[in-house]
Amino acid sequence: MDYTADKGWHDPRVVPYAPIVLDPAALVFHYAQECFEGMKAYRTAAGRVQLFRPDKNGERLRSTHERLCIPPIPVDDFVQAVKALVAVDKDWVPAEEGTSLYIRPFTIATEAQLGVKASSAYQFCIIASPSGSYYPTGIDPVRIYVEDEYVRAAPGGTGAVKCGGNYAASLLSGEKAHRLGYGQVLWLDGVERRYVEEVGSMNCFFKIGGVIRTAPTAGTVLPGITRMSCIELLEGWGYPVSVAPLPIEDVMRADEDGTLEEVFGTGTAAVISPVGELKYRDRAAVINGGRIGPVTQRLYDTLTGIQYGRLPAPQGWITEVE
Ligand code: PMP
Repeated sequence: MDYTADKGWHDPRVVPYAPIVLDPAALVFHYAQECFEGMKAYRTAAGRVQLFRPDKNGERLRSTHERLCIPPIPVDDFVQAVKALVAVDKDWVPAEEGTSLYIRPFTIATEAQLGVKASSAYQFCIIASPSGSYYPTGIDPVRIYVEDEYVRAAPGGTGAVKCGGNYAASLLSGEKAHRLGYGQVLWLDGVERRYVEEVGSMNCFFKIGGVIRTAPTAGTVLPGITRMSCIELLEGWGYPVSVAPLPIEDVMRADEDGTLEEVFGTGTAAVISPVGELKYRDRAAVINGGRIGPVTQRLYDTLTGIQYGRLPAPQGWITEVE
């Protein structure tokens, strides 16, 4: 689908996968006016193909567009476009447990222009690719490096929206973590480098002394759809959930006094990912003996149960592709 100032968003179409031809002066190349979403289609044992809360991706894309000065796409049009692409060939959605069709909607600024300005032309595309199980050999806890040199987001910036620039700024820290033997980076806040924010591609939860704590999104943390769903499930099950700033020192102290019970990340790709180890400066916390904890396991079983149609979904969480 294309946007021009005179026609607005127009010409939605499904075309064969092929390179996109852009002018070398297209604004996306120079000023990074682009953004994306990440979601999945799942096949149930009964053969149905379904999406998990696609309206929430549409709402998040709308706020990302607003922050990046891109004209909004109505949420219903977004969901219809995703459904239309998946419906072209439902056999695209693999059948084995844990597999899915990964869907990547994105918007790019296409106007050719060397001055800094918001583009007057855009392309919105959706591509998709079958993806294997995130845990082919069972759930494997991730080891996490707490970054205290660089920051991912600062108040007033773009940390709470899904634009490529956030990820470009995170690559150096990701490389550093990998070199040191860690799978992902846990970011601290951009002002004091004191409060935990989120992991590379996941939101993060800490169970400390019976309370499940996670950072507020507060303009700097991506409001994950898995995060939102976990908070709703946990509250429904009666767990105390605290969405409030959490100093990394409190996490490390909880490890020392034995009250750091579970840590897990949440995101579309990994669903729920137990954290087995947290490395902060010269200290390393090994969580629950490096094994998945009971709340993490229950969330994983429930969310995958809903996504693969084994468990009833709360109202509005599942959209079937006809
Ligand atoms: N934070 C970041 C930085 C991410 O890239 C993602 C993945 N989209 C998440 C959190 C989790 O969001 P969601 O649950 O919507 O996939």
